[in-house]
Amino acid sequence: MQKTDAHLLRSFRAKVRSRKTAFKRFLTRLEKKPVRGLQQLIVQKEKEVWAEVDCLSCANCCKTMTPTYTPADLKRIARHFGITVPAFKKKWLKQERGGDRDWINRSTPCQFLDTKSNKCSIYAIRPLDCSGFPHLPKKFVEYAHVHKQNLDSCPATFLLVEKLSQQLASRS
Ligand code: SF4
Ligand code: SF4
Repeated sequence: MQKTDAHLLRSFRAKVRSRKTAFKRFLTRLEKKPVRGLQQLIVQKEKEVWAEVDCLSCANCCKTMTPTYTPADLKRIARHFGITVPAFKKKWLKQERGGDRDWINRSTPCQFLDTKSNKCSIYAIRPLDCSGFPHLPKKFVEYAHVHKQNLDSCPATFLLVEKLSQQLASRS
């Protein structure tokens, strides 16, 4: 990890420690009682977030989380490596114990992350889950639980929630 990345993640973790509980409560309130114009506000705040957050200086999702692989992901990525789906699973994946028994990475950081550049080495064919992450512009009520889970892993999610809470506090 580059020094700048470590510094950014340290300051992010400090902010998470002090605000996470309050932000989770804020998201729950918003989920139960969405304010008028919420989705437009999210679209506007998301633009501001990406003007401030550079994923290549972070890659915390690829370092600490795992995507779930759909059957189409498995076929596409195995084909890219010229191996069968079972061989691909055997080499890198495991099946979740509970829930939908999804296929996930066996270890972190993700085996496809180039840890020097923070770039995904299979970017063009990465799992669908990765390409949609962190799901900021998706319909808020359906994704509020995902944002709660990602608050302490994803600086972009954290910043979106921070901006939303500031904006809505200034209205009241
Ligand atoms: S999506 Fe979030 S956790 Fe992943 S690199 Fe971007 S800011 Fe970091
Ligand atoms: S496949 Fe690529 S984008 Fe997805 S977690 Fe691995 S390195 Fe990150």
